[in-house]
Amino acid sequence: MERVVAKFGGSSVADGVQIRKVKAIVEADPRRRIVVVSAPGKRHSAEAKLTDLLYLCHEMAAMSTDIGEPFGLIRDRFTEIAAQLGLKTDVVALLDRFGEELTAGCSRDYAASRGEYFSARLIAEYLGGEFVDPAQYIIVRPNGTLDPLSYKQLGDRMHDTSALYVMAGFYGSDRNGKIKTFSRGGSDISGAIAARAAGAMLYENWTDTSGILMADPRIVDSPQTIDEISFREIREMAYMGASVFHDEAILPVREAGIPIRIRNTNRPDDAGTLITAQLSENTIVATEIAGIAGRKDFSMICLEKSLMNKEVGFAHRLLGIFRDQGVSFEQCPSSIDSISVIVEDAQLQGLDELILDEIRRQLEPDQLFLERNLALVAVVGEGMVRTVGIAAKIFNALKEAEINVRIINQGASEMNIIIGVAADDYEKAVRALYAAFVVDSRTVSARFS
Ligand code: ASP
Repeated sequence: MERVVAKFGGSSVADGVQIRKVKAIVEADPRRRIVVVSAPGKRHSAEAKLTDLLYLCHEMAAMSTDIGEPFGLIRDRFTEIAAQLGLKTDVVALLDRFGEELTAGCSRDYAASRGEYFSARLIAEYLGGEFVDPAQYIIVRPNGTLDPLSYKQLGDRMHDTSALYVMAGFYGSDRNGKIKTFSRGGSDISGAIAARAAGAMLYENWTDTSGILMADPRIVDSPQTIDEISFREIREMAYMGASVFHDEAILPVREAGIPIRIRNTNRPDDAGTLITAQLSENTIVATEIAGIAGRKDFSMICLEKSLMNKEVGFAHRLLGIFRDQGVSFEQCPSSIDSISVIVEDAQLQGLDELILDEIRRQLEPDQLFLERNLALVAVVGEGMVRTVGIAAKIFNALKEAEINVRIINQGASEMNIIIGVAADDYEKAVRALYAAFVVDSRTVSARFS
């Protein structure tokens, strides 16, 4: 039987009420045979995330401080969930043992992993599924990447297509069996690994929003949800700041050609967003772009030098200066006698004068200056290079909004057009572009012409 992996994030397993919704979702589709869960998330904005409490306990224990208060909150969360769901597991005994491990100096990763571990144990009992401890099957290398042997091991463990498995997200172990977590939000990665290991037909990522939005809802009022987006597009959107899901979670399923669907546990009838290798004909015909994303806090180092184009290795030497300072760059637009390097402010901090001095010394530019407070906005869409009028629409919208365009860059991926504007114009630019592509284009022309 074809199987679906359903991964439920922190808000979907925050308490008994949410976990009942999880059960209803799992039971609604017999193909949902593999469930991957996060640690309980916040029930309201003022509450601490359980994983944060675990890190706090570990930190306090390491300083030999009494962990009673944060540990009490963790204990309360799990005992409450067990009580709400009428579970038999002796949570108190499990947590007491864990409390002793914390005070005895367990590792930071081990401490953090227990949020997912207890969550999965309780949910496995509630759903009547087999608990799968990823520590035994998922191997995380010292550099944090996945050992591909994990797919085989996990696939073997979950070979029975009729069984229901419930796996803890967020962690695996190193070659010596020591618990190792992924980076924050890493249960998304675990779900993707499970999907690939099981050869699933679909990876469902259940969260608290009905999919990925076409623009940042803090800037655009009620932006539309993206129905379908390609793996390539989602990379661009995520890179340019759109909050999607963990970007490392894309690779395992993308390589295996397994689509992802982002869905809302609180609105299970909403279709959500499908992330796929190949966009459907319908999407291609009905939409011009996938979305608009962007980020602030960039600076641009601009230099001019006559006959720069004739100097072999000029750009190489320029970028070498950034490399020598350990600064990575974002974009590098250039023309005949000028070139600019756009860098994230966080990267440049404290190094700007040093870099400018080195450029002066090594490259002897005619002009050199640093421009701060820039924002980059990306209009993302697979087929925009082949669609007539996209650039015109972008620049017309920005002109109408009286926004001065500082940088224009169409990357080699031919997947987006990136525009640099003053940081103060950032929100206005996003709104103007959204209006041009979405609001004014409800009856849109073909995405690919
Ligand atoms: N619980 C972990 C975190 O808060 C992992 C996850 O939820 O995906 O980062």
